[in-house]
Amino acid sequence: MSDRYNENGNPDEQDLEQEEGVREEGQEKTEDKKDASVTANAGKSANSEYEDVCFICRRPESKAGKMFKLPNNICICNDCMHKTMETVSQFDYQGMLNNPQFQNELDQLSKQGGFPNMGGFPNISFVNLADLQGDGGIPNKQKLKKKKKKEGETPVLNIRDIPAPHKIKASLDEYVVGQEHAKKVISVAVYNHYKRVATGTMDNIEIEKSNMLMIGPTGSGKTYLVRTLARLLDVPLAIADATSLTEAGYIGDDIESVVSKLLAAADNDVEKAERGIIFIDEIDKIAKKKNTNTRDVSGESVQQGMLKLLEGAEVEVPVGANSKNAMVPLATVNTRNILFICGGAFPDLEEIIKERLTKSASIGFNSELRDKYDKDRNILSRVTVEDIRKFGMIPEFIGRLPIIYTLEGLTKEMLVKILKEPKNAILKQYQKLLELDEVKLEFTEDALEAIADKAMERDTGARALRSIIEDFMLDIMYEIPKDDNIGRVTITKEYIQGTGGPVIAIRSNLLPEPPRLLEDGGAQ
Ligand code: ADP
Repeated sequence: MSDRYNENGNPDEQDLEQEEGVREEGQEKTEDKKDASVTANAGKSANSEYEDVCFICRRPESKAGKMFKLPNNICICNDCMHKTMETVSQFDYQGMLNNPQFQNELDQLSKQGGFPNMGGFPNISFVNLADLQGDGGIPNKQKLKKKKKKEGETPVLNIRDIPAPHKIKASLDEYVVGQEHAKKVISVAVYNHYKRVATGTMDNIEIEKSNMLMIGPTGSGKTYLVRTLARLLDVPLAIADATSLTEAGYIGDDIESVVSKLLAAADNDVEKAERGIIFIDEIDKIAKKKNTNTRDVSGESVQQGMLKLLEGAEVEVPVGANSKNAMVPLATVNTRNILFICGGAFPDLEEIIKERLTKSASIGFNSELRDKYDKDRNILSRVTVEDIRKFGMIPEFIGRLPIIYTLEGLTKEMLVKILKEPKNAILKQYQKLLELDEVKLEFTEDALEAIADKAMERDTGARALRSIIEDFMLDIMYEIPKDDNIGRVTITKEYIQGTGGPVIAIRSNLLPEPPRLLEDGGAQ
């Protein structure tokens, strides 16, 4: 046991500054000499994907060296433990230090425990420090994920592994209907971003970060697009709502909490988080407020606060919690390679664009032009940086989102496609569910159109589709399993509109029986 102290517990300065890999090698050698149980424990912690953090100085094990494990999942690094012991040894507790009997006892215990008798506080020796260095079964959320060894490791994102833009787009096509322009822009931007991450710099030319601003009406697929992208690239994703963000010190989530969310999504693995994506929704809600005299804690100042994050900064975030406090370990996350995507509906932006377009056109035809622009469904796609600035975003903020693109409002045809075409389309999901009961679910073409019509009325884009379908599918999902004879259900336009029922066909190995209607009619 005393070997361990000499080699690990009392390292010289050089040892402390060794590269992590070398240190781990050194530890392995030391561990060979130890008894079997300690070796088993140490091996367990070396193999674990998480590392401990010192309770006092907050450094992770990779920086501070092997930890002492105290009860209640508390870990203390060698340096802090020795500082504490030294401090404690300065007190002469009721003259005990001069008492030969105590000295003797302390000597013996220190030999067993593997630490030096510093002539200190006797009670401390009742804790066998060597035992505490095993793996105490601390839950992972209290730990930091280890950085992988640098030597011989293959880069996580190899430049050759990043799929080419057309391949990224092809994968997106399988899930996202329409939005061709947005998918193209996002594919190229993501490709460039990860190329930049993989190579660092190219011939000293720093490639600009590809942060994006996505503008599109509610339910047009902004969040869905980002979610799909993150899943396809297998990178962690954090989604935050700009309305809940405030400057640090005010009620609400402070801006850095988005990085904390990303770290949680990356399973507390700092390296993984550092190449993730942060999507900030409803970004238009933090536009500068016009004509206010009060302090603007949720608008302009949040934009100001986000500048550093967008550009790239080292942020200290709590691990496994959303607020910094004494009990939570901290991790430093660099946001330089994190891709930020901001999205918003920017409701009054259309007016600003129309105004600019009519003004810039020749005088005299204003009303005619205005009519033309009023009818243009995709007027948003003509947006410029100046329009966004007018809307209330500060120039520094827009400057850090160099890629700006718009999503189209969904048409009825697109809604029908969304119902049936994507790989995980809602209809396919229901069909799969009923297939498990060996029932075939079919929709007539005009039924799909009727659903799309209903969704268009609600004006919440594709978001309305699910709730409409859930409404009428409830009865189907409730009634069908009652009767084993049912082999096929066809949803009709009449059923969607509430004027009739679905067509039910009875399972039969011969001819299907003439269709009959469900008794309780259609759902609204
Ligand atoms: P928002 O633009 O408001 O962020 P969402 O991305 O949350 O909208 O879209 C809501 C839902 O609508 C998504 O979960 C997705 O299922 C569906 N959806 C929206 N747009 C599309 C699209 N273009 N293709 C496929 N599904 C879509």
